[in-house]
Amino acid sequence: MEDVLLLYWKEKEGIYQIINRSRLDYNKERQEQGLDGLVSMVVPEDRATYEVFLTKLKNALKGAENFQPMEDYHLSVSVRMYKADGRDSYHNTICFFEKDDTDAVVSMSLTICEMTAEEIYRVQLAQTVTNDRTPAMFIRAAHEVLRQNPDRKFALVQFDVAKFKMINEMHGEEVGDELLNFFIEVLQVLCNKDQLFVRLTADVFMILLPYENRRDIIDFVETVNKNLTCYKGISYRLVFGVCCIEDSNENLRKYGDRAALARQSIKGNALKHIAFFEEKMKDVLYTRKHLEDHMEDALRNREFVMYLQPKYNMVNEQIVGAEALVRWVKPDGTVIPPIDFVPAFENNGFITKMDAFIWEEACKLLCRWREEGKKLIPISVNMSRRHFQTIEYLPTLNALVDKYQIPKKYLEIEITETIDEQESHSNIMKLKEEGYTLLMDDFGSGYSSLNVLKDTQFDIIKIDRAFLQNFLGTDRGQKIVENVIKMTTAIGLPMVAEGVETKEQADSLMKYGCNVAQGFYYARPMTVEDFCIMKDAQEKGN
Ligand code: C2E
Ligand code: CA
Ligand code: CA
Repeated sequence: MEDVLLLYWKEKEGIYQIINRSRLDYNKERQEQGLDGLVSMVVPEDRATYEVFLTKLKNALKGAENFQPMEDYHLSVSVRMYKADGRDSYHNTICFFEKDDTDAVVSMSLTICEMTAEEIYRVQLAQTVTNDRTPAMFIRAAHEVLRQNPDRKFALVQFDVAKFKMINEMHGEEVGDELLNFFIEVLQVLCNKDQLFVRLTADVFMILLPYENRRDIIDFVETVNKNLTCYKGISYRLVFGVCCIEDSNENLRKYGDRAALARQSIKGNALKHIAFFEEKMKDVLYTRKHLEDHMEDALRNREFVMYLQPKYNMVNEQIVGAEALVRWVKPDGTVIPPIDFVPAFENNGFITKMDAFIWEEACKLLCRWREEGKKLIPISVNMSRRHFQTIEYLPTLNALVDKYQIPKKYLEIEITETIDEQESHSNIMKLKEEGYTLLMDDFGSGYSSLNVLKDTQFDIIKIDRAFLQNFLGTDRGQKIVENVIKMTTAIGLPMVAEGVETKEQADSLMKYGCNVAQGFYYARPMTVEDFCIMKDAQEKGN
């Protein structure tokens, strides 16, 4: 046998025959330690596993009662072992037992053999699909496939289910899990031994695909797509991103990231389900990476700055409140708008820290006004839905209003309307019970505005600026705006119109009964100091 370390025992004499054709450094010193000598070749993380395995062998040798002879007379384990060159790789250790009539072990042979990419992968897959190590294993195994096929071209194909969360919400998490298991089963049939696949995270899968030309890739994707989008009549859509591997010596993670970028580039585009990576997508990656590398420092260095946009009572043109809007002001003075970093922070969760910082800025300002004997007007802060995945937002808010001694009604909270009513409902109730004023942000831009209104806990509705722009232009649209305002007024919900840019819009809104507006027609978001000057002037004037 090639490439194998073979150890042989007879009865209780210990190891008496060794053949080492492997790349393992099974030296004299190790041989003298018997079975235990093998442990030092195993990488530290896998040693515990290996020791359990060796204990079983020792028990077998001792004829211990708790040794259960395997039906097929062998035991095996796969762990990472160091080779003589210092590198580690997966090795399979198989022990065959020879037994006498009484089932006692008389001899034992142990073969240790380096595993092929496919073996490693199958073992890993058999262990569990949710195993944390699976993606790392995939990368290793994929590198091995590339090494063994230097003349072939390969691509990484990633796919996920668009709006997977909605499947969980609409059909239950159990169905979501079933669907993902269905994917795994189908992929096992569809993919041959060179087409390794892995489940990267919840609903994201990646496949290593050999190909000759682009058409092969597209055909493969279409086959996968066709076979995977037919589960129990549930309707869902798969989104594929592809990145061709240019240099097989480079870390495959890089190509994986690029396939992910390609996949993400078609999110929200219902007409497209496959995208190949293009260089220009890298800019997005670098910006995101840049953001992530700098966000913690930026928070410490107070580079996030609260701007305020006044809310006006259109009838008497008085400032009646303000919305806190974040800006990232770089040390060189460049001001980055939230659209360039808020979505990334929502993705990576940092938004909760950044929001809490802005909330504190708002509380500080309210506290300052109180101490200076100025009139208090409410400041509304934005609360990303990411907060609802933690339990900390409520204690954080409460600690802030306590610290700065602010009546809760002056710290208003804007939350965007979405469809996952159930989740938000309980969180919104909690905020309400604590006594905060809640504003439903971006009303009219989402899915189920009317449903949300039906049993809403919100105190104030903010009409989205896109809604105004889309509707105020036509007669029919005007009617819709008019009736939406009438309806909310009828159920006693005050409204703020966002994005009022013209006098005509302001006049229409007032005519229909909406009197509070926030928009460029009145004022743009501004620094706290500019805002205070305006507010002071108004107070003096009154
Ligand atoms: P939003 O909460 O809907 O905020 C209103 C946005 O509309 C602001 O954009 C504001 O500048 C803009 N706007 C107001 N009036 C007009 C107008 O008349 N015309 C036009 N074209 N735009 C108008 P901004 O400041 O760029 O913020 C964008 C979004 O970023 C916000 O939308 C909000 O979703 C998010 N955001 C901003 N600050 C924060 C924050 O501190 N935390 C969180 N979680 N999100 C924030
Ligand atoms: Ca807002
Ligand atoms: Ca808004």
